[in-house]
Amino acid sequence: MQEYDIRLPAACGEILQILENAGFSGYCVGGCVRDSLLGRVPHDWDVATDALPGDVLRLFPENIAYTQGMRHGTVALRLQGQTVEVTTFRRDGAYSDRRRPDSVTFTRDLREDLARRDFTVNAMAYRPKDGLHDPFGGLSDLAAKTLRAVGDPAQRFSEDALRLLRAVRFSAELGFSVEAETRRAMEQERDGLREIAVERVFEELRRTVAAPHAAEALRCAPTVLFAAVPELEALWNVPQNSIYHIYDVWEHTLHALDDAPQDATVRLAVLFHDVGKKAAHSVGEDGRDHFYGHALPGVEITGRALTRLRAPNALRAEVVELVRLHDMAFPPKPVKLRRLLAKLGYETVFRLLAVSRADSAAHAPAYVAPRLRALDETERAVRALQAENICLTLDALAVGGKDLMELGFIGPEIGKALNTLLSEVVDGNLPNERETLLRRAKRLRERLQR
Ligand code: ATP
Ligand code: MG
Repeated sequence: MQEYDIRLPAACGEILQILENAGFSGYCVGGCVRDSLLGRVPHDWDVATDALPGDVLRLFPENIAYTQGMRHGTVALRLQGQTVEVTTFRRDGAYSDRRRPDSVTFTRDLREDLARRDFTVNAMAYRPKDGLHDPFGGLSDLAAKTLRAVGDPAQRFSEDALRLLRAVRFSAELGFSVEAETRRAMEQERDGLREIAVERVFEELRRTVAAPHAAEALRCAPTVLFAAVPELEALWNVPQNSIYHIYDVWEHTLHALDDAPQDATVRLAVLFHDVGKKAAHSVGEDGRDHFYGHALPGVEITGRALTRLRAPNALRAEVVELVRLHDMAFPPKPVKLRRLLAKLGYETVFRLLAVSRADSAAHAPAYVAPRLRALDETERAVRALQAENICLTLDALAVGGKDLMELGFIGPEIGKALNTLLSEVVDGNLPNERETLLRRAKRLRERLQR
């Protein structure tokens, strides 16, 4: 038996032991085996077993975490501070909706259970007693950094089109390339993505863009991306005959992704930032391509795509704002910067700088350094304002609604007056000092009474 450096968490060891003692077999399986062999920290541990869900309930009465997956064979256990999903070996029935098997059949055969899994590197099982079970060559694919479908790739993708997006996501996370026949099958089966729940499409997209090898994974699979998110097809085939650019819009976007920090919000904004260019394109008298005002159609397309994909509202709003502002002039005038901070907050402004840095770094070399210097200067200015702790919100204002009521303001006048004071403070026209603000409020009140 060959030794592998797979260290099971104590909870898994205990689960395998209890199953074993009761005459069943249990294995760690899937992503946790893959990640352990790669020396990565698995983010969840799954156990597969020939015990039926009812047996698992009986053997672990004190440890049941949740049972929603029972019909598909899954019982989640909570032991020693860890949640582990224990799933009965199964064989999946036909996939008539291309999403979920119509039926699952439990089996006592580990190999059958591994055969239903998506990629060879995800189809390995391990237990300390007899080591690794790898009937589909997952270990050698791991060594070759290859994603290969288990069985007939076209059939596997037609059963469940989510697997196409999982392939792109794993290649983005692990830096693996997709084996040629698997790749061809993805191309062929990509229309199946239309039937996948939009929430799942978005979740895979979010994880893909935030991964270390996102750009390379997307470069290899543009048609899959566009089948999943048709709004992004506007990035394709848009040449940029311009002194500012050396790439077309698609390549520019990928280079910018590579340069962006691995933050899902920033990366999504980078992915969408130039999606309005196709719509805004014109050719100048100089024969060059121009994209005046491309952020605006970009905002519309990005908002539409993220709404359709049911992205969380706050995330969508922030990404849209970043697309709207990605091409603004840096450094902004001091008052404009203060207004921007009041509107967006520090976190979003730092993200805007990250988007703009990534965008800038993917421009023609002559334009990169000056643009990055302007962004550095802006960042220093933001940090100085942050250190100064300038007032940017109503909460931080030195007077409140009660003060204004005492001065005789009523109803909606109160909020209006507070906002007037805040914007004068944000603009730097008034200090955030109680006495000064009260004096100013009195004058606003007098004007109301006139
Ligand atoms: P990660 O947890 O990092 O996303 P993972 O490989 O563990 O990666 P999970 O979604 O946790 O992925 O699924 C666990 C295992 O279940 C996978 O390793 C794979 O064997 C199997 N699996 C998950 N989704 C599918 C699917 N759509 N088709 C076939 N097998 C799947
Ligand atoms: Mg997992």
